[in-house]
This record gives sequence, structure tokens and C-alpha cells, in this order.
Amino acid sequence: MPDVFADLVGQDEAVVELRRAAAAAAAVLRAGAADRAPALITAGPASGAEFADPDDGVEFTDPAHGAEFAEVDGGAESGGVDPAAGMTHAWIFTGPPGSGRSVAARAFAAALQCVHGTGCGECPGCRTTMGGTHADVRLVVPEGLSIGVGEMRALVLRAASTPSGGRWQVVVIEDADRLTEAAGNALLKAIEEPPPRTVFLLCAPSTHPDDISVTIRSRCRVVPLRQPPADAVAEVLVRRDGIAPDVAQWAAAAAQGHVGRARRLARDPEARKRREAVLAVPRRLTGVGAAFDAASALIEAAEAEAEASVTEADTTERAALETALGAGGTGRGAAGAMRGAAGQLKELEKRQKSRATRAQRDALDRALVDLAGFYRDALTMALRAPVAPVHTDTAALAGAGAQKWDAEGSLRRLEAVLACRAAIEANVKPRIAVEAMMLALWKG
Ligand SMILES: [Zn+2]
Repeated sequence: MPDVFADLVGQDEAVVELRRAAAAAAAVLRAGAADRAPALITAGPASGAEFADPDDGVEFTDPAHGAEFAEVDGGAESGGVDPAAGMTHAWIFTGPPGSGRSVAARAFAAALQCVHGTGCGECPGCRTTMGGTHADVRLVVPEGLSIGVGEMRALVLRAASTPSGGRWQVVVIEDADRLTEAAGNALLKAIEEPPPRTVFLLCAPSTHPDDISVTIRSRCRVVPLRQPPADAVAEVLVRRDGIAPDVAQWAAAAAQGHVGRARRLARDPEARKRREAVLAVPRRLTGVGAAFDAASALIEAAEAEAEASVTEADTTERAALETALGAGGTGRGAAGAMRGAAGQLKELEKRQKSRATRAQRDALDRALVDLAGFYRDALTMALRAPVAPVHTDTAALAGAGAQKWDAEGSLRRLEAVLACRAAIEANVKPRIAVEAMMLALWKG
């Protein structure tokens, strides 16, 4: 098994920083073993600091991360290396979808549990963390539209326990931007007064207040990830997944830097077919009726894709819950048990419905990103910009569009697609948003 950071594509600076932190964390443990206080320095609120631009890439050395760190550095100079200097209790991994936020968080979790170094990939700590079975690593992957307060309270409680492996309790929260306000407050309390051996790793698209609350952000160190270049994505598809180089190259470009999406396109014929259907939209828009038809087709395709992805999990969960509740029991007390069971089933159905909605939105968003890529290609061609097209297989069609629409018309269409994404994100009913977009794409 290679090093735990091997799959974090095109993020060299972040890897250097995370390794340094893991080394510092290991030093804290050694110091603890040598009977020194095994506590980390907590990042205090960044006093008066403005929001750091997620793209500025200098987060790590930003003095706004609390005077405590500066004091630590000063202490090191005046003799005695403080092992906590490179490590802190709470982290946020930010970056565009597919840049590897959760990959980075998991790899860092493994590096913290590594018994040999900083993520060797070989030891039991690394292997169990990467395999998702480490007893002291908890992974929260929200399936629905939000992470609720109940889930978060339970998590915070468990995270406070002493690590069974003697190292760290690590909590990875994917899509921390989906925390409800109450869940965010529960998390904030834990981050403000963290148990000495607990580390929180949050993943979010950015540190914008829409994604993560100002107070949580002020307590965390930010690791900004960038959209990995297509060449780096293609390289990992070839090396890790054994995909043929030409297919990997094409998929990496078509996925626009989204590693997981590139792998799906390279491997899954259904994903390729769905993408082709989406890219056929521009030439099908011949009138108002056609625009509405295209909208229906896009929505229904997203629904079908989402249903395929969640149905199996739904059925398994329901069966497991019914078994656990002893459905069909007839003994004394069975009626009371069934009343409780009905509540639990209702709760499960609610969760599943939320997950299905999320899956539909994700599927639709993938389609919109593909479509945006097409109009972006038309725009760059109209401007004669020297950049490679996103969709090599529809480049000729985009070129024809560029001639017909010119740069302005191409840009208006690209903006219509982006506006549709934004509207859906802001909870506009997907069908309404997609119909409006299709009409705009037709009319220009
Ligand atoms: Zn290891």
C-alpha cells in the first residue's frame, strides 16, 4: 500500500503542511509518554481578522490564526521545542468539489494514527484508518440535506472519550457546510473546549459564512485545496486505477478537475451515456417545445440516476431495522413495541427521503457542470483563447456554436447554466430553474 497521501492529487503544499502537523502531533504523544502534559495548543478566535480568501494559499503562516501559535514559536526560540507548534485541534479542508477535501482529511487522520511515521500506509494505524475500521476515527458522511443536532451531539460525546489506541480521537466531518445551525453550535462547543486528545477535521467548499460559521472557522486552521490539473488527475487514474492513458487523459479533461468524476467517466459506461445525453442538449434546443422537453429529460435523468444509487441502500436499511425491531412479533408487549417501531420506521423514511433529494440534486448538478463546460468551450473558441477544450468530443459542436453565437452569446448561455446551479442551491424547485435555463439557452 502506498503512502496515505498518494491519492491526494496535485496538492503538494497541503501535503507538506499536513505531514509537518502529523509529526508535531506524534511529538506531542512522545512528550506525553515522557510525562509531560500531552495537550495541544488550541487556535483561539482570530482577533479582528477578516475572512481569509480561500484562494490565497497562505493560510498556514497567517498570523491571524491566533496569538497562541506566535507565542509557541517564540517559546521555541528561547529554548525547548514545543511539540504542539505544528498541530491544532480543529481543521477545515476547503476546495472545489472533487479537489479531494475528504481524501485529504482521511489521509491526515491516518497520518495521525500512523505508528511508524506520518502516514506510511503500511502500519495497522494507517491501514485501518484508510479502510474505515480504526476504532478512534469517526467519519460523518451526511446522506441527506443536512447534519442534525442529535447526530452531532452523539458524535461530540463519543469523541470526548479516551482514544483506545492511545493516540488521537479523530472526527472527520464531510460536507460540514450541511450542518444545521444547532448542530454547528454543538460542534462549536466541542471545538472551543476540546478534550486533550481529540481532533476535528471538517470539509467544506470554502470558508464563506454560507458554508461554515464565522465562529467555527475562527477556531480552525484552514487547509485550502486547489482544483487539480488534468494531467495530475490522469496520472492518478493510470497509476491507481489501471486505466489506459488515453482514456484517463480524456476523462480527466471532461471531469474538469474532479477526481472521482473522472474515475467514474473512465470506468462506468452508464456515466458516459448520461454525459453524452447532456451534451446533446445544445443541438436539441430548436424551439420552445424542445426547450421544455429538454428540461424534462434532464430532470428525469437525474431522478433515475439518483434512484439507482439509493434504492439498494434504502431496502437494506429498512430490512435491517425491521429485523432489529422484531417486526411480526406477537408476544405480550408486542403492540407497544410496534408503536415504537412505527416511529423509528417513520424516522428512517424521513432520512431516506432527504438522502434521495440530495442524490437527485447532486446528479442534476453534475449534468449542469457538464453543460457549463460545453458553453465555456464555445466561449473560449469565440475568443480564440489558447486553452484546451473541456469536452474534446463535442469540440466541433462548440466551435459551430462559437461561430453562431459569438463570444457574447456564448457567455450569456454559460451564465444561464451557472444561474440555474445557483438557483437550485438556493432552493428554487429544480424543474422551474432548469426550464428557465433551457429557455435562456434557446433564446440566447
Ligand atoms: Zn503508518
